[in-house]
Amino acid sequence: MKGEKYLFVVSGPSGTGKDTVVSKLLGDHPDVKKTVSATTRPMREGEVDGVNYHFLSKEHFKEALDADGIVEYTCYCENYYGTLRSEIERHMKAEEPVILVIEVEGAGNIKRLYPGATTIFVLPPDMQELEHRLRCRGTETEEVIQKRLKRAETEIARSADYDEHVVNDVVQDCADRIYGIIRHRLMQED
Ligand code: 5GP
Repeated sequence: MKGEKYLFVVSGPSGTGKDTVVSKLLGDHPDVKKTVSATTRPMREGEVDGVNYHFLSKEHFKEALDADGIVEYTCYCENYYGTLRSEIERHMKAEEPVILVIEVEGAGNIKRLYPGATTIFVLPPDMQELEHRLRCRGTETEEVIQKRLKRAETEIARSADYDEHVVNDVVQDCADRIYGIIRHRLMQED
């Protein structure tokens, strides 16, 4: 499909700092956009509906699915997350690079649907650092932290399927590396 080269999927285990890296990149390069996913998970302190996510009830999420408004979705730690079709198509049509920050299953589905998309996996420097970052965030209960750490191991094991790999050692460096990947892809054919 025309415009697939504008799609960039970023994944990485919870706590790896991928959201911070992507925020840095978006701040440095306003030409790059990010899709806003739909989720049924509760809003965290400081999050804004329609900015971080479209926070939906399970019923509304199901309605959007039934209306074919969600291109891919997953159940992650007991909550649903999905990419809205309108978000993807809007950016592809406008020919502007757009980042989808989604987990591994969703990344695989996007790559199957849009083979021209570039998938980028953000790795933590090591597992101890990942656990440390997850705990420092202070937004999850111990039970949720344990679930996310377990899931992190599975996700890292599946990272070989990604087109590109970057380590989040220093946020600015990692953001710059991802921007370099975007610039390089945009110079290629669709
Ligand atoms: P969090 O609860 O930390 O915001 O997100 C949990 C996980 O869900 C993260 O790995 C995030 O990238 C992923 N995620 C967010 N939105 C989507 C989406 O639309 N689709 C999929 N498949 N995963 C998503």
